[in-house]
Amino acid sequence: MKFIADGMLGKLARWLRLAGHDVIYIGDLNVPASEQDDTLLSLSKSGKKVLLTRDMALHRRARRAGIRSTLIEGSAVVEQLVELSKRCGSKIRIQPESSRCPMCNGLLELAGKEEIEGKIPATVLRAQSEFWRCVKCGKLYWHGKHWKTILEMASRYNRMVK
Ligand SMILES: [Zn+2]
Repeated sequence: MKFIADGMLGKLARWLRLAGHDVIYIGDLNVPASEQDDTLLSLSKSGKKVLLTRDMALHRRARRAGIRSTLIEGSAVVEQLVELSKRCGSKIRIQPESSRCPMCNGLLELAGKEEIEGKIPATVLRAQSEFWRCVKCGKLYWHGKHWKTILEMASRYNRMVK
């Protein structure tokens, strides 16, 4: 399932990407605020993406236009994921092993140590054995502290959504 998230759901968008989903976040696109609703609707329609929004009026507009839309009401990301899972009718799978770049939605590929030498702190290079590079923006990732947070959140989510 592919998603497109409104301007109030940036955190959820980044989290869904880390969890392996394809998500466009309107805040990443250069769209003036007054045109964001129309852009969200047209991109979700043309790309067959599920619209994620906190805006009831936009949600209704989308439904009337035959667009799959999910109204998100919770404030914490885990609650939002559980909500999304219930409303989508199928459990949203959390697949951190197929993460996408949280910043730009690009796919990640394994990078060799020699390719990244000098680009990251030497202590990290020594401590970690696997590195990933975003094919779109080039940002480098490794299993640091945030990885533990992701796995903890994933297991909390998996317990809640059962
Ligand atoms: Zn990227």
